[in-house]
Amino acid sequence: MSTPHYIGRFAPSPSGPLHFGSLIAALGSYLRAHSQQGQWLVRIEDIDPPREIIGASDDILRTLDAYGLHWHGSVLYQQQRYDAYQQQIDELIRHDQAYFCQCTRKIIQAHGGIYDGRCGLRQPRLTQGAIRIRNQANADNFNDLVQGEVTVDKRFAAEDFIIKRSDGLYAYQLAVVLDDAYQGITEVVRGCDLLEASCRQISLFSLLGLDAPQWLHLPLACAQKGFKLSKQNHAPAIDTKQPQASINAALSFLGQPEVDVDAVEVMLQQAVAQFSLDRIPKHKEIVLAATNLAT
Ligand code: GLU
Repeated sequence: MSTPHYIGRFAPSPSGPLHFGSLIAALGSYLRAHSQQGQWLVRIEDIDPPREIIGASDDILRTLDAYGLHWHGSVLYQQQRYDAYQQQIDELIRHDQAYFCQCTRKIIQAHGGIYDGRCGLRQPRLTQGAIRIRNQANADNFNDLVQGEVTVDKRFAAEDFIIKRSDGLYAYQLAVVLDDAYQGITEVVRGCDLLEASCRQISLFSLLGLDAPQWLHLPLACAQKGFKLSKQNHAPAIDTKQPQASINAALSFLGQPEVDVDAVEVMLQQAVAQFSLDRIPKHKEIVLAATNLAT
């Protein structure tokens, strides 16, 4: 049997412009996909309109272009996928593999902080509220290509987690799994902020009878220990006028040799040719020197 063709992706949420932290995920996933002669897709994860910044999707795509990070095919927007998400949820409810829940955070806290599945036992079942998956997969470990063997707390792994929120928004866990499957993603490359979430995603792939991809979690760029660079903590947008400096800073963050060429496309070609997975630091986070924050 031939090895399935590699398909990777970068899946930003449009909650602000690309910053150095998101550039690392974009560049890391791009280099890995191209070094495997694979495809690199871009998916805009716009399932949370209240947190969306108007114009951010276009801004992210323009920035990727300015950095020479050109994607295969057309961009998938999660808002185009609402019907697919709902159909899957309806089917899960029909088979009692998911159920409505009206427990507040306070109730869950009072019972130890991990949801204990109580609404899944109610008769008759509730017909409103958040929707939780009946988690019978309980995935609590996996092997990551950079981070090695990853294990999570068994109680966390066994929780019936939310797949649709009580405000009607689809949960990230559901959307990401359905879309990775829909787009045929063979390997997920992203930051370590989602390392533990992978276990839930592995559970969901298994509950839905879908093949899970391979996982590769890059170290997270942090402003200080425990604080990742993020749109929420106002990490500065990366410079679209001089992408070379930021690309080199991101290459060096990923343990890869820098490239001294002017044209970004040529720069990326060289970076792909020199890319080595073994050189990626096996750390969950790396605190940046203050001077690097604005690259
Ligand atoms: N949309 C998520 C973010 O911007 C990334 C999701 C993923 O890569 O699985 O943090």
